[in-house]
Amino acid sequence: MILILRPNVTRESDDFRQLSAHLAQFSNIRSRIHEERGEQQTLTEVYLIGNTAALDIDDMRALPGVERVVRVSEEYRILGRHHDEQRSCEFVYNGVRFGQDNLNVFAGLCAVDTPEHVELMLRALQAHGQQCTRMGAYKPRTNPYSFQGHGKQCLPYVFDLAGKYGIKVIAMEVTHESHVDEIRNALHATGQATGVMLQIGTRNTQNFELLKIVGRQLEFPVLLKRGFGITLEESLNAAEYLASEGNRMIVFGLRGMKTNMGDPHRNFVDFAHVPVVKRLTRMPVCIDPSHSVGSREASPDHVMDMMHVTAQGVIAGANMILVDFHPAPSKALVDGPQALYLEELPWYLEDVAIAREAYEKRISAARKSAKNFPGI
Ligand code: PEP
Ligand code: MN
Repeated sequence: MILILRPNVTRESDDFRQLSAHLAQFSNIRSRIHEERGEQQTLTEVYLIGNTAALDIDDMRALPGVERVVRVSEEYRILGRHHDEQRSCEFVYNGVRFGQDNLNVFAGLCAVDTPEHVELMLRALQAHGQQCTRMGAYKPRTNPYSFQGHGKQCLPYVFDLAGKYGIKVIAMEVTHESHVDEIRNALHATGQATGVMLQIGTRNTQNFELLKIVGRQLEFPVLLKRGFGITLEESLNAAEYLASEGNRMIVFGLRGMKTNMGDPHRNFVDFAHVPVVKRLTRMPVCIDPSHSVGSREASPDHVMDMMHVTAQGVIAGANMILVDFHPAPSKALVDGPQALYLEELPWYLEDVAIAREAYEKRISAARKSAKNFPGI
């Protein structure tokens, strides 16, 4: 059960003290406090853990400081969408809003290679009105002899250039807690020229110690990729690990599943799960067409498979797109064959806008009609 307190009822207030005294009477129930500090107000949530079935919702609602009471199901206690609960998990980071109702595009380099390529990429993004990107510095590779990313050595120029071209958020994978410190220090050294969304890759979805460390820091939002060989439920529980440590700025990423049956794509595209994740949880959902399709193959209609699947994810309500571009894909050190050319950026963005508009029209149609069909 979650008690949502009235805005600005904080740990220091009288209401909170009285509430705590009341809760202390329940010997078989523990409480855990979560504070969300916004610019205008602080929102406090009290998580009651234990035998809460015996508690009466109306009694709890009448306690000092309590505004609302949510009875949570066992699944995804913090991130889940319990019953018909409308609380959102939206957040604003470095001026960019992430929610289940909007869309941010993160086009960029799979792996940082040279400052020149970083600059060409960022300049193109700025020219097309973009404020987010992806830049891999720490690359977990299947083969130990493959390029492993430039690591902390590239962070100063990546962050400086991002600041120069007005980029607000960079999605960057981390595979070890030291990477979080390196990113924090490098951002500090550049006077916080930009912001970073820490990415947990598919190979680390169930690296629970990494999840706990990344979940415990409250400075950076987190993009958690779905594990490519585990169930959706297991991946959503991995997101819950992050939340249970305190971080609520979480985006869930779909990136295709391993099937190894000679499929035409690198992974089996799972973007049909966009609405499923939005129904089960309150997290914004990201799609990664590059790592799921893995090539620039096009069909006879001249549309690349990568653009087709992007449109499929967006028309189903995706909230973020992570996509590989490169100024010279043949020279890319990682995943060149799946990178789109910078010259294709306006075409890609136009295609995304078409799909988004179609999604918005579908939502209006659903609003009009769904009321006639009880149960939807
Ligand atoms: C990536 O986005 O660069 C990446 C390695 O993705 P994934 O973890 O989904 O393979
Ligand atoms: Mn890649």
